Amino acid sequence: MRISGATTVCGIVGDPIEHSLSPAMQNAAFEAVGVDYVYVPFRLRRGAANICTGAMRALGVRGLNVTVPHKVDIIRHLDWVERSAMRIGAVNTILCEEGRLYGYNTDAPGFVRSLESCGVDVGGMEVVVMGAGGAARAVVFSLVDRGACVTVLNRDEARAASLADDVAASGFRVSHGALTDRRIEAQLLLAGLLVNATSVGMHPRRDESPCPRRYLRRDLVVCDLVYNPPETMLLRDAATVGAATINGVEMLVQQGALAFELWTGVRAPVDVMRSVVCKELGYDSH
Ligand code: NAP
Repeated sequence: MRISGATTVCGIVGDPIEHSLSPAMQNAAFEAVGVDYVYVPFRLRRGAANICTGAMRALGVRGLNVTVPHKVDIIRHLDWVERSAMRIGAVNTILCEEGRLYGYNTDAPGFVRSLESCGVDVGGMEVVVMGAGGAARAVVFSLVDRGACVTVLNRDEARAASLADDVAASGFRVSHGALTDRRIEAQLLLAGLLVNATSVGMHPRRDESPCPRRYLRRDLVVCDLVYNPPETMLLRDAATVGAATINGVEMLVQQGALAFELWTGVRAPVDVMRSVVCKELGYDSH
Protein backbone atom coordinates (compact mmCIF):
# COMPACT_ATOMS: atom_id res chain seq x y z
CA MET A 1 0.00 0.00 0.00
CA ARG A 2 1.41 3.41 -1.00
CA ILE A 3 -0.04 6.43 0.82
CA SER A 4 0.25 9.81 -0.91
CA GLY A 5 -1.25 13.27 -0.52
CA ALA A 6 -4.17 12.10 -2.65
CA THR A 7 -5.04 9.05 -0.55
CA THR A 8 -8.59 9.04 0.83
CA VAL A 9 -8.78 8.32 4.56
CA CYS A 10 -11.36 6.13 6.28
CA GLY A 11 -11.23 4.52 9.69
CA ILE A 12 -12.90 3.28 12.82
CA VAL A 13 -13.44 5.05 16.16
CA GLY A 14 -14.02 3.26 19.45
CA ASP A 15 -12.51 2.42 22.81
CA PRO A 16 -11.03 -0.17 23.04
CA ILE A 17 -10.04 -0.43 19.39
CA GLU A 18 -6.90 -2.58 19.33
CA HIS A 19 -8.87 -5.80 18.81
CA SER A 20 -10.74 -4.54 15.72
CA LEU A 21 -10.51 -6.71 12.60
CA SER A 22 -11.87 -3.91 10.40
CA PRO A 23 -8.50 -2.29 9.49
CA ALA A 24 -7.18 -5.59 8.07
CA MET A 25 -10.49 -6.33 6.33
CA GLN A 26 -11.01 -2.86 4.80
CA ASN A 27 -7.41 -2.25 3.73
CA ALA A 28 -7.33 -5.63 1.97
CA ALA A 29 -10.60 -4.71 0.25
CA PHE A 30 -9.29 -1.29 -0.92
CA GLU A 31 -6.20 -2.97 -2.30
CA ALA A 32 -8.18 -5.72 -4.00
CA VAL A 33 -10.34 -3.27 -6.00
CA GLY A 34 -7.46 -0.83 -6.60
CA VAL A 35 -8.81 2.33 -4.96
CA ASP A 36 -6.44 4.82 -3.32
CA TYR A 37 -7.95 4.57 0.16
CA VAL A 38 -6.54 3.76 3.60
CA TYR A 39 -8.36 2.65 6.76
CA VAL A 40 -7.00 3.60 10.18
CA PRO A 41 -8.06 2.69 13.76
CA PHE A 42 -8.59 5.67 16.10
CA ARG A 43 -9.01 5.27 19.84
CA LEU A 44 -11.73 7.73 20.82
CA ARG A 45 -12.59 8.20 24.49
CA ARG A 46 -16.18 8.12 25.71
CA GLY A 47 -17.82 11.54 25.43
CA ALA A 48 -15.61 12.71 22.56
CA ALA A 49 -18.07 12.06 19.73
CA ASN A 50 -18.40 15.79 18.94
CA ILE A 51 -14.63 16.20 18.63
CA CYS A 52 -14.59 13.23 16.26
CA THR A 53 -17.22 14.66 13.90
CA GLY A 54 -15.51 18.06 13.94
CA ALA A 55 -12.18 16.41 13.08
CA MET A 56 -13.78 14.38 10.35
CA ARG A 57 -15.03 17.52 8.62
CA ALA A 58 -11.81 19.48 9.19
CA LEU A 59 -9.49 16.71 8.02
CA GLY A 60 -11.62 15.55 5.11
CA VAL A 61 -11.98 11.99 6.40
CA ARG A 62 -14.23 10.22 3.91
CA GLY A 63 -15.78 7.57 6.15
CA LEU A 64 -15.76 6.13 9.63
CA ASN A 65 -17.05 3.03 11.32
CA VAL A 66 -18.27 3.72 14.82
CA THR A 67 -18.09 1.16 17.59
CA VAL A 68 -18.48 0.88 21.38
CA PRO A 69 -19.07 3.26 23.18
CA HIS A 70 -20.03 5.86 20.53
CA LYS A 71 -22.79 4.32 18.37
CA VAL A 72 -25.57 6.20 20.16
CA ASP A 73 -23.81 9.44 21.17
CA ILE A 74 -22.58 10.15 17.65
CA ILE A 75 -26.10 10.51 16.24
CA ARG A 76 -26.75 14.04 17.48
CA HIS A 77 -23.55 15.30 15.84
CA LEU A 78 -24.49 14.20 12.32
CA ASP A 79 -26.26 16.21 9.61
CA TRP A 80 -28.50 13.35 8.46
CA VAL A 81 -29.29 9.85 9.71
CA GLU A 82 -31.06 7.17 7.68
CA ARG A 83 -34.47 6.12 8.98
CA SER A 84 -33.51 2.58 10.00
CA ALA A 85 -30.48 3.78 12.00
CA MET A 86 -32.74 6.31 13.71
CA ARG A 87 -35.21 3.60 14.67
CA ILE A 88 -32.45 1.32 15.93
CA GLY A 89 -30.94 4.26 17.79
CA ALA A 90 -27.38 3.54 16.68
CA VAL A 91 -25.06 4.57 13.83
CA ASN A 92 -22.09 2.36 12.92
CA THR A 93 -21.07 4.00 9.63
CA ILE A 94 -20.54 7.65 8.68
CA LEU A 95 -20.05 9.04 5.20
CA CYS A 96 -18.64 12.55 4.76
CA GLU A 97 -19.64 14.31 1.57
CA GLU A 98 -18.75 17.97 0.97
CA GLY A 99 -18.44 18.52 4.72
CA ARG A 100 -21.82 17.00 5.54
CA LEU A 101 -21.97 13.89 7.69
CA TYR A 102 -24.43 11.08 6.86
CA GLY A 103 -25.13 8.29 9.37
CA TYR A 104 -26.09 4.67 8.63
CA ASN A 105 -26.50 1.39 10.44
CA THR A 106 -25.01 -1.43 8.37
CA ASP A 107 -25.26 -4.00 11.22
CA ALA A 108 -28.96 -4.49 10.48
CA PRO A 109 -28.67 -5.28 6.74
CA GLY A 110 -25.42 -7.15 7.49
CA PHE A 111 -27.35 -9.45 9.80
CA VAL A 112 -30.09 -9.95 7.19
CA ARG A 113 -27.53 -10.76 4.51
CA SER A 114 -25.88 -13.32 6.82
CA LEU A 115 -29.25 -15.08 7.28
CA GLU A 116 -29.94 -14.93 3.55
CA SER A 117 -26.54 -16.40 2.74
CA CYS A 118 -27.67 -19.49 4.69
CA GLY A 119 -31.07 -19.57 2.97
CA VAL A 120 -33.02 -18.58 6.10
CA ASP A 121 -36.35 -16.81 5.46
CA VAL A 122 -37.73 -15.44 8.74
CA GLY A 123 -41.16 -14.41 7.43
CA GLY A 124 -43.78 -15.74 9.88
CA MET A 125 -41.11 -17.49 11.95
CA GLU A 126 -40.97 -17.46 15.76
CA VAL A 127 -37.57 -16.06 16.71
CA VAL A 128 -35.94 -15.83 20.13
CA VAL A 129 -33.33 -13.08 20.48
CA MET A 130 -31.10 -13.22 23.55
CA GLY A 131 -29.77 -9.75 24.44
CA ALA A 132 -31.12 -6.21 24.27
CA GLY A 133 -27.98 -4.15 23.61
CA GLY A 134 -26.97 -2.33 20.44
CA ALA A 135 -26.56 -5.42 18.27
CA ALA A 136 -29.85 -6.88 19.51
CA ARG A 137 -31.65 -3.67 18.56
CA ALA A 138 -30.38 -3.91 14.97
CA VAL A 139 -31.34 -7.59 14.82
CA VAL A 140 -34.83 -7.16 16.28
CA PHE A 141 -35.82 -4.30 13.96
CA SER A 142 -34.54 -6.26 10.94
CA LEU A 143 -36.52 -9.33 12.00
CA VAL A 144 -39.86 -7.57 12.58
CA ASP A 145 -39.47 -5.72 9.28
CA ARG A 146 -39.29 -9.14 7.60
CA GLY A 147 -42.39 -10.51 9.30
CA ALA A 148 -40.82 -12.54 12.12
CA CYS A 149 -42.58 -12.97 15.49
CA VAL A 150 -39.86 -11.99 17.96
CA THR A 151 -39.32 -12.59 21.67
CA VAL A 152 -36.46 -10.67 23.32
CA LEU A 153 -34.93 -12.18 26.45
CA ASN A 154 -32.34 -10.19 28.38
CA ARG A 155 -30.50 -10.47 31.68
CA ASP A 156 -31.71 -6.97 32.54
CA GLU A 157 -35.40 -7.43 31.81
CA ALA A 158 -36.12 -3.69 31.87
CA ARG A 159 -33.80 -3.26 28.90
CA ALA A 160 -35.73 -5.92 26.97
CA ALA A 161 -38.98 -4.11 27.84
CA SER A 162 -37.57 -0.83 26.64
CA LEU A 163 -36.55 -2.38 23.31
CA ALA A 164 -40.03 -3.88 22.96
CA ASP A 165 -41.54 -0.43 23.59
CA ASP A 166 -39.37 1.14 20.90
CA VAL A 167 -40.37 -1.56 18.42
CA ALA A 168 -44.04 -1.03 19.36
CA ALA A 169 -43.64 2.66 18.47
CA SER A 170 -42.90 1.48 14.89
CA GLY A 171 -46.13 -0.47 14.83
CA PHE A 172 -44.79 -3.98 15.61
CA ARG A 173 -45.32 -6.18 18.63
CA VAL A 174 -42.43 -7.93 20.32
CA SER A 175 -42.68 -10.16 23.43
CA HIS A 176 -40.04 -9.80 26.09
CA GLY A 177 -38.79 -11.38 29.29
CA ALA A 178 -35.84 -12.19 31.47
CA LEU A 179 -33.03 -14.38 30.17
CA THR A 180 -33.71 -17.33 32.48
CA ASP A 181 -33.44 -21.04 31.71
CA ARG A 182 -37.18 -21.47 32.23
CA ARG A 183 -38.08 -18.69 29.85
CA ILE A 184 -35.60 -19.87 27.20
CA GLU A 185 -37.02 -23.39 27.41
CA ALA A 186 -40.61 -22.19 27.03
CA GLN A 187 -39.87 -19.84 24.12
CA LEU A 188 -37.74 -22.32 22.21
CA LEU A 189 -40.59 -24.84 22.02
CA LEU A 190 -42.21 -22.57 19.42
CA ALA A 191 -39.12 -21.11 17.77
CA GLY A 192 -37.47 -21.73 14.41
CA LEU A 193 -34.52 -19.40 14.98
CA LEU A 194 -32.44 -18.57 18.07
CA VAL A 195 -30.12 -15.55 17.93
CA ASN A 196 -27.43 -14.82 20.50
CA ALA A 197 -26.97 -11.03 20.59
CA THR A 198 -25.38 -11.05 24.05
CA SER A 199 -21.62 -11.02 24.50
CA VAL A 200 -21.75 -14.36 26.35
CA GLY A 201 -19.27 -16.78 24.79
CA MET A 202 -17.01 -14.02 23.45
CA HIS A 203 -13.23 -14.30 23.88
CA PRO A 204 -11.78 -14.74 26.52
CA ARG A 205 -14.87 -16.37 28.13
CA ARG A 206 -15.18 -19.02 25.46
CA ASP A 207 -16.58 -21.71 27.76
CA GLU A 208 -19.87 -19.94 28.40
CA SER A 209 -23.17 -20.17 26.56
CA PRO A 210 -26.36 -18.16 27.14
CA CYS A 211 -28.54 -21.22 26.39
CA PRO A 212 -28.31 -24.69 27.96
CA ARG A 213 -27.68 -27.40 25.37
CA ARG A 214 -30.68 -29.47 26.49
CA TYR A 215 -33.07 -26.86 25.02
CA LEU A 216 -31.56 -26.98 21.53
CA ARG A 217 -33.22 -29.06 18.83
CA ARG A 218 -32.34 -30.42 15.43
CA ASP A 219 -35.01 -28.34 13.65
CA LEU A 220 -33.73 -25.02 15.04
CA VAL A 221 -31.43 -22.55 13.27
CA VAL A 222 -28.95 -21.09 15.77
CA CYS A 223 -27.22 -17.81 14.95
CA ASP A 224 -24.50 -16.32 17.15
CA LEU A 225 -23.42 -12.71 16.57
CA VAL A 226 -20.19 -13.33 18.47
CA TYR A 227 -17.41 -13.71 15.88
CA ASN A 228 -14.44 -14.23 18.18
CA PRO A 229 -14.33 -17.19 18.47
CA PRO A 230 -16.27 -18.03 15.28
CA GLU A 231 -17.32 -21.36 16.79
CA THR A 232 -18.79 -20.43 20.16
CA MET A 233 -19.90 -22.94 22.74
CA LEU A 234 -23.51 -22.22 21.76
CA LEU A 235 -22.80 -23.08 18.13
CA ARG A 236 -20.82 -26.18 19.07
CA ASP A 237 -23.74 -27.34 21.23
CA ALA A 238 -26.18 -26.59 18.41
CA ALA A 239 -24.08 -28.59 15.94
CA THR A 240 -23.98 -31.59 18.27
CA VAL A 241 -27.80 -31.81 18.26
CA GLY A 242 -27.85 -31.44 14.49
CA ALA A 243 -29.15 -27.84 14.34
CA ALA A 244 -28.09 -25.51 11.51
CA THR A 245 -25.64 -22.82 12.68
CA ILE A 246 -24.69 -19.32 11.51
CA ASN A 247 -21.70 -17.58 13.10
CA GLY A 248 -20.95 -13.87 13.50
CA VAL A 249 -18.23 -13.76 10.85
CA GLU A 250 -20.65 -13.35 7.95
CA MET A 251 -22.47 -10.43 9.63
CA LEU A 252 -19.14 -8.76 10.36
CA VAL A 253 -18.07 -9.14 6.73
CA GLN A 254 -21.42 -8.02 5.32
CA GLN A 255 -21.69 -4.91 7.51
CA GLY A 256 -18.15 -4.02 6.45
CA ALA A 257 -18.96 -4.62 2.79
CA LEU A 258 -21.92 -2.24 2.97
CA ALA A 259 -19.78 0.47 4.60
CA PHE A 260 -17.09 -0.05 1.93
CA GLU A 261 -19.68 0.46 -0.80
CA LEU A 262 -21.00 3.66 0.78
CA TRP A 263 -17.51 5.17 0.92
CA THR A 264 -16.12 4.02 -2.43
CA GLY A 265 -19.16 3.51 -4.64
CA VAL A 266 -17.48 0.27 -5.74
CA ARG A 267 -18.86 -3.24 -5.19
CA ALA A 268 -17.12 -4.77 -2.18
CA PRO A 269 -14.83 -7.78 -2.69
CA VAL A 270 -16.71 -9.85 -0.10
CA ASP A 271 -14.63 -13.01 -0.62
CA VAL A 272 -11.40 -11.11 0.06
CA MET A 273 -12.90 -9.51 3.16
CA ARG A 274 -14.18 -12.87 4.48
CA SER A 275 -10.86 -14.62 3.93
CA VAL A 276 -8.94 -11.83 5.74
CA VAL A 277 -11.29 -12.01 8.74
CA CYS A 278 -11.06 -15.81 8.87
CA LYS A 279 -7.27 -15.63 8.65
CA GLU A 280 -7.11 -13.05 11.47
CA LEU A 281 -9.33 -15.31 13.60
CA GLY A 282 -7.35 -18.44 12.69
CA TYR A 283 -10.58 -19.93 11.38
CA ASP A 284 -10.91 -22.32 8.50
CA SER A 285 -14.48 -21.80 7.25
CA HIS A 286 -14.37 -24.84 4.90
P1 NAP B 1 -23.89 -4.27 24.24
O1 NAP B 1 -24.71 -3.18 23.70
O2 NAP B 1 -22.86 -4.00 25.29
O3 NAP B 1 -24.91 -5.40 24.82
C1 NAP B 1 -24.42 -6.53 25.49
C2 NAP B 1 -25.55 -7.53 25.68
O4 NAP B 1 -25.00 -8.72 26.27
C3 NAP B 1 -26.64 -7.03 26.64
O5 NAP B 1 -27.89 -7.56 26.26
C4 NAP B 1 -26.18 -7.65 27.98
O6 NAP B 1 -27.23 -7.84 28.91
C5 NAP B 1 -25.70 -8.99 27.50
N1 NAP B 1 -24.76 -9.62 28.44
C6 NAP B 1 -23.48 -9.26 28.70
N2 NAP B 1 -22.95 -10.11 29.62
C7 NAP B 1 -23.91 -11.00 29.94
C8 NAP B 1 -23.97 -12.12 30.81
N3 NAP B 1 -22.91 -12.49 31.56
N4 NAP B 1 -25.11 -12.82 30.87
C9 NAP B 1 -26.19 -12.48 30.13
N5 NAP B 1 -26.20 -11.43 29.28
C10 NAP B 1 -25.08 -10.70 29.18
O7 NAP B 1 -23.08 -5.04 23.08
P2 NAP B 1 -23.51 -5.21 21.55
O8 NAP B 1 -22.86 -4.15 20.75
O9 NAP B 1 -24.97 -5.36 21.50
O10 NAP B 1 -22.77 -6.59 21.17
C11 NAP B 1 -23.26 -7.84 21.63
C12 NAP B 1 -22.44 -8.97 20.96
O11 NAP B 1 -22.68 -8.96 19.56
C13 NAP B 1 -20.93 -8.82 21.14
O12 NAP B 1 -20.37 -10.09 21.35
C14 NAP B 1 -20.46 -8.26 19.82
O13 NAP B 1 -19.13 -8.65 19.49
C15 NAP B 1 -21.45 -8.93 18.87
N6 NAP B 1 -21.61 -8.16 17.64
C16 NAP B 1 -21.29 -8.78 16.45
C17 NAP B 1 -21.45 -8.11 15.26
C18 NAP B 1 -21.10 -8.81 13.99
O14 NAP B 1 -20.95 -8.13 12.97
N7 NAP B 1 -20.98 -10.13 13.98
C19 NAP B 1 -21.93 -6.79 15.24
C20 NAP B 1 -22.26 -6.17 16.45
C21 NAP B 1 -22.08 -6.88 17.65
P3 NAP B 1 -27.58 -6.68 30.00
O15 NAP B 1 -28.43 -5.66 29.27
O16 NAP B 1 -28.32 -7.41 31.04
O17 NAP B 1 -26.26 -6.10 30.47
